Amino acid sequence: MDDKTLYARLLGLTPPWGIERVELKLAEGEVHLFVALPMNELWVCPECLERAPIHDHRERTWRHLDTFQYRTLLHARVPRLNCPNHGIKQIRVPWAEENSRFTALFEALAIEWMKQASISAVAERLHLTWDEAAGIQARAVRRGLARRQAEPVPYLGIDETSFQRRHRYVTVVSDLMRSRVLYVADERKRESLDGFWEAMTDEQLRAVEGVALDMWEPYIGAVTESIPRGGEKIVFDKFHVAKHLNDAVDKVRRSEHRALRTNGKEWLKGTKHDWLRNPARFSLAEWRRFLRLARRSDLKTARAWSLKEEFMRFWDYRYRGAADRHFRSWYNWAIRSRLEPIKRVGRMINRYYENIATYFRHPITNAAAEGINATIQRIKGMARGFRNPERFRMAIYFHCGGLDLCPSTTMFTQ
Ligand SMILES: [Zn+2]
Repeated sequence: MDDKTLYARLLGLTPPWGIERVELKLAEGEVHLFVALPMNELWVCPECLERAPIHDHRERTWRHLDTFQYRTLLHARVPRLNCPNHGIKQIRVPWAEENSRFTALFEALAIEWMKQASISAVAERLHLTWDEAAGIQARAVRRGLARRQAEPVPYLGIDETSFQRRHRYVTVVSDLMRSRVLYVADERKRESLDGFWEAMTDEQLRAVEGVALDMWEPYIGAVTESIPRGGEKIVFDKFHVAKHLNDAVDKVRRSEHRALRTNGKEWLKGTKHDWLRNPARFSLAEWRRFLRLARRSDLKTARAWSLKEEFMRFWDYRYRGAADRHFRSWYNWAIRSRLEPIKRVGRMINRYYENIATYFRHPITNAAAEGINATIQRIKGMARGFRNPERFRMAIYFHCGGLDLCPSTTMFTQ
């Protein structure tokens, strides 16, 4: 077997495509493969499949997977046809998608690596520029989004996430059943979700049974306006309610700590995370130590914490009636607590209570959204922050979209 046949086999080239010439540039560490086409072949337009004469040729180059340690480049003079219906059209080559300067196999490799490492790490390893690597990722996302089907999504989660320290946000819509991100929008306004509703079919909108979100008016407005009977389907979920309660406990702790300190008392020093932690995550020894502090009724922080923990039992009830009674008695306690941050959250919970209790109709757990959120935080860490929201959106779709990302070509797929 000669080298031309060998490379043609390795590439999976089938007639009329063949390798005409192999050039080794050992000093540069490169292999150049020249793909040839028979001159007299009859071609059809890629759009309408009508026969069309060759208009001219374009010299093109694609980066392919390395051959051992050698960068491997594929060259071809690609015919452009003059279609009677479509004018000048370049024929499609079987080893790459249109407009890509990489073969499909090379892109597939880069995509696999990018699932594990940052764009810069992959770019460095594959000797790509950062823009080339980011381009492969963006193309993969566009491809994956275009392949999506309009399936029903019974449970949606809507959440915000920041992509920079200075309070820049994107809105993330996720499919809670399949743990994947459906949509990423700029900012966190009511209009942020417009593009999402537009992309949903009427059937999909009707099929939505529950939407988990935070008590945030712009999102509430968007859901009630766009989903049929949206108001009944909103569920202010455990995760978000807990976050508000935790913030309130922390506010109480901070001001109490400041006051105690001026009297030389350091009781609350270094305890911040203990008050916010899920009790199930304590070791027995830690829990005993923490309880000595948490049971001191003279501490405002301890009372705020008890109120938070008491409210959290809401999600353990099996029946709405018992949960309602639990909430009423909790609310009376909260409102008389003389702890301003807790009273504020209590009033907010009271105002939105109907849609917290929708949990008993749509027991949406936020486990999926939390998992997605953890991945988003990891992506942020991997990229060491994002300069623009567009890059951040691409990365979220790439890692959390559950998309079919790989290029499809007629080759390499046997
Ligand atoms: Zn045509």
